[in-house]
Parts: sequence; structure tokens; C-alpha cells
Amino acid sequence: MTLCDTHSHIFDEAFDADRAEVVERARQAGLDRIILPAIDCESHPRLLQTLEQYPDICRGAMGVHPTSLTADNVEAELAEVARLLDCGVEWVAIGEIGLDYYWSREHVEAQHHALRTQLDWAVERGLPVIIHTRDAWDDMTTLLEEYTGCGLRGVMHAFCGTIEHYNRIRHTGEWVFGIGGVVTYKKGGVAEVVAQMSLQDLVVETDAPYLTPVPYRGRRNEPAYVVHTAHRIAEILGTDITNVAAQTRTNTTRIFGV
Ligand SMILES: [Zn+2]
Repeated sequence: MTLCDTHSHIFDEAFDADRAEVVERARQAGLDRIILPAIDCESHPRLLQTLEQYPDICRGAMGVHPTSLTADNVEAELAEVARLLDCGVEWVAIGEIGLDYYWSREHVEAQHHALRTQLDWAVERGLPVIIHTRDAWDDMTTLLEEYTGCGLRGVMHAFCGTIEHYNRIRHTGEWVFGIGGVVTYKKGGVAEVVAQMSLQDLVVETDAPYLTPVPYRGRRNEPAYVVHTAHRIAEILGTDITNVAAQTRTNTTRIFGV
């Protein structure tokens, strides 16, 4: 059984004390790849350093996260993403990028500007995207519909939209949907939606250090725990974990080439 954690921030300070052990536990759990999506200028150096330290298992995505953006910093953040896209690292995607209305709607304009700019870069470069959406599923779906036919591909990370969002987004490009620890929670509604999704459209992720799956909920998340998410998906879809691992691993290669 081989798994890929398609979304993990193990460059975060939360892993400074034991990053090597975390990577080793991921290997032992059957992971052959961990994709690290960028956050912002402040954390890009740590991302680059982690990619350098674990070149056999870690792959990086470059982009700026919506919650890091303000009207004042958006151009500087985008300029740094543009610079790092050409710094010689073989990025597997542009991300994470997106819309997040949960914390504040104050910088929605900056978020939209950065998202469209980075989607355009992805189209130009033929790179997939890693998209973050929180409390903004309607706006995200409508925006992606504008890009229909442009050749976008990527992952809708931490998917928690409705089945209608899933069906509309699927038609706008070549998408997979990232399922993480939330699917193991009793409340959250993700399990009900996953039950209606095709395994061919799913990839697994942790979003470490956040969104820890049961039975470790409440503790720091780490890539090895993606096994619990795969197990829960197998339960929901009435199949076995080997099948979930094989199919989600194939889907990951189809989108990211890793
Ligand atoms: Zn993330």
C-alpha cells in the first residue's frame, strides 16, 4: 500500500523539534510522497529548507495563501511567488491559493486578485493548482466556471462544499478533491458528500499540523495519519483501504505527476 499526503505543512514551526521523526513515521506508514504547499513570504524560506532536507519524499508547491493577503502586501507577495517560481526548484503545483471568508471579508478584493493572477500563471506554465476555499464555495465555483476550457487542473483542497459544488466544479477543468481529517469527524457533513463522490475524483491529505483525524483529534496532525483518512473513506464507500490507497495514489499522479 502506497499513499501520498497531498497537502502538508511540515515546514511549520510545529515540526521544528522532530521533523525527521515525522518524515520517518510517514515512510513507515507507507507514504512515498508528501506535497508541501507554500503559505507566504514569511514561511517560504522554511519551505525551501524542508524541500532541500527531504528531497526523496517531499515535493513543493509555490503560491500565496489567501489568509496571508491584505491590500497592502498583495503585490509584494505575488512578486515573491513569481520570483520563486523561477528559482530553479521543480515545483509540482501553484498553491496554496484561494478564497477564505471565514476569518475576515476585509481583504476579499486582494484575495480575488491574487487568485486570478496565480490561476493565470498556472495556465501559462501548464502547472496544476492547489486551491483553498473556506466559507466561499459559491464564489469559488462561479469563478472557476469562468475558467472552463482554459485547461485548469488541480486539487480542491479540504473539500467541504456540497454535492452541487462538486458537480459544477468537475466540469470546469480536471479536478480532484482533497479529503482530510474532517471526514473522520461525526459532525462536519463531509462524509455524507464523500458517499456520493467517485473514488476516481479523490486524493487524501492531512493539512498537517491542522485538522487531525480521529483517533488523534486534538493533537498535532502529521502525514502518517493520512492512513486514518483513507481508512474512513474506504468505510464510507464500502471498499477496502488497499483500493482507496491505489486509486487515490493514481489520481495524485494524474494531477501532479508525482
Ligand atoms: Zn494548507
